[in-house]
Amino acid sequence: MVGKVFLVGSGPGTLGLLSQRGAEVIAQADVVLYDQLPGNEILASLPTTAVRIDCGKYGADHTKEQGEIERLIVDHAVAGSVVVRLKGGDPFMFGRGGEELEAVRKAGIPVEVVPGITSAIAVPASVGIPLTHRRYTSQVTVVTGHEDPNKQGSAINWAGLAPGTGTIVVLMGVKNLGRIAEALILHGRDPLTPVAVIERGLRRDQRVTVGPLDRIALLATERKVRPPAVIVIGGVVELYDSDSPILTPPEGSTNLL
Ligand code: SAH
Repeated sequence: MVGKVFLVGSGPGTLGLLSQRGAEVIAQADVVLYDQLPGNEILASLPTTAVRIDCGKYGADHTKEQGEIERLIVDHAVAGSVVVRLKGGDPFMFGRGGEELEAVRKAGIPVEVVPGITSAIAVPASVGIPLTHRRYTSQVTVVTGHEDPNKQGSAINWAGLAPGTGTIVVLMGVKNLGRIAEALILHGRDPLTPVAVIERGLRRDQRVTVGPLDRIALLATERKVRPPAVIVIGGVVELYDSDSPILTPPEGSTNLL
């Protein structure tokens, strides 16, 4: 009998922010294919009886090929297993969950998607940055910063995003932060627009770097900012209060106070 596949979003990293449905299906998994992004706390909670397959790192520093991950998901389900594909945040916010859904459907395997709280929203929220606020903006765009904005035929319309005051959230943008800032300023975003770079959101070693758009890349280099980080560009960053930098308890916290 064929098994079933669950595409599960782990949320931004703490057990408390994993959905109840997510925890339920994880507890019943025969096989869990995971990335590093869910974080140690969630990975430590995987059932000891489940086969665990690390899809984040392979050998020294290589990531498993996407095709290989899809094959593993399908093969284990065809063999009758309950397969959980565990992804950071929401499975469909970047991270190629959509392609995995296509592969599973194509193989005719029953599948359920368990949404997760995306880091794009949760990480800024956890440090007190609302992505919309009536005083600042009623528009938000989430983009990947994986791509060099100067690349010909870029998939992202930086020129269209730059004007105005809409909040821009960049995932996977640490490496290209300088080029992204330049492109936005070139196309009309105010160089003094505040930017927050939140590294390792909701982890114990979370760190926030704030600065104006025209200096944020320099600051990030000085402070040796590293992925994973969520970058928030827009007036709403003014609401960040460095005197109370953490409003949502990080991993390991279960107390209410
Ligand atoms: N599906 C995920 C995003 C996958 S792309 C989601 O919905 O959150 C991977 C990027 O997500 C990272 O490069 C980083 O930009 C961001 N990210 C995910 N978890 C994060 C965390 N805890 N802290 C900071 N950034 C995080």
